[in-house]
Amino acid sequence: MATTHALAGVVLGTAVWALVPEAGMLPVLAAALGGLFPDFDLYAGHRKTLHFPVYFSALAVPAVAVAALNPTTTTLAVALFLAAAALHSASDVLGGGLELKPWLGTSERAVYDHWNGRWLAPKRLIRYDGAPEDLALTLAFAVPPVLAFDGLAETLVIAAVAVSGVYVLLRKPMVAIAETAVAAIPDHVVDYVPERFVRDLR
Ligand SMILES: [Zn+2]
Repeated sequence: MATTHALAGVVLGTAVWALVPEAGMLPVLAAALGGLFPDFDLYAGHRKTLHFPVYFSALAVPAVAVAALNPTTTTLAVALFLAAAALHSASDVLGGGLELKPWLGTSERAVYDHWNGRWLAPKRLIRYDGAPEDLALTLAFAVPPVLAFDGLAETLVIAAVAVSGVYVLLRKPMVAIAETAVAAIPDHVVDYVPERFVRDLR
């Protein structure tokens, strides 16, 4: 889920902060945003429009090299944003597929690989986003920043864990509610709803 990706970025950011604390918290924030960024395509070509497992990685390598040679707040922030976005895009393949009920495991689309022009199949190590094991991963990723930081940063990490817990509880009921809602819409109205929003629900 998005919070797991964000906190994975924060773990990278925390490691860099431990090495270069004088760069401050901006690189850590950039890492969190980079981890979150690909999922901003949720409503428009999810896991394709802003997910670039190959291109983000290709950009992250020189950015990390620049930051390693000249570690400033800016170079570290850019490198961490790209590294976290690459990690997010690449690690989506470890989860479930792109379908309304990913716990059923029927979709063979995990994330789009623009470089090879094809969908990568889900490996389902985390069965679906919002699964209990997804929450376990979120909790594990929260440990380093909670130990390292105080104040606002620590509060934001704990808030992300709390949001994740609520999401995990609601993950399956939300789909049932959406199905009921779509079933209640008259057919002549459904005709005006874009096909991809209805297809999985009917
Ligand atoms: Zn994603």
